[in-house]
Amino acid sequence: MAEEPRFFIDLDRFQKQNRDFKVFVQSRICPECLERIGEEVEERRPTVDPQSGRVVFQTVKVRYGEDPFECFLTHCGRLDDFIPPSTPLLEAIFRVFLANGNRPLTLDEIRQELEVWPGVAEKVRALAPEALERIIRSDDYYGFAEVAPVEEGATAAG
Ligand SMILES: [Zn+2]
Repeated sequence: MAEEPRFFIDLDRFQKQNRDFKVFVQSRICPECLERIGEEVEERRPTVDPQSGRVVFQTVKVRYGEDPFECFLTHCGRLDDFIPPSTPLLEAIFRVFLANGNRPLTLDEIRQELEVWPGVAEKVRALAPEALERIIRSDDYYGFAEVAPVEEGATAAG
């Protein structure tokens, strides 16, 4: 049985087009976060302790906004007006991925995420599933790409 395709924002596509992803997403960052960009913050990151082989959390100092997804995931993407009603469909799909930390989604899941946003919901409901897929696959601006399917017989790490 073939697995359903999953999509995400492929940062490699931005790199290949010599476009800076951080600059591209900047206009979607809320004013509050924009002011904090570059600020030193502490972040807990999981690492594997080489002695015991167990996952431990380390506190590291990072610059706020260094990972733009983190900013959308923890703040801007949770704002009520993150996807305004007039947002074009491709832009709305892009923002769905920003808000969820770029977690790969199936077409059905993308549709469900869009349907909670007034204005955008109507646009996506008017589209047949194939049309939505075609729109995403033909995009050359937002970096959407299909996640490479996991090879048959491959086992999960760990
Ligand atoms: Zn924010």
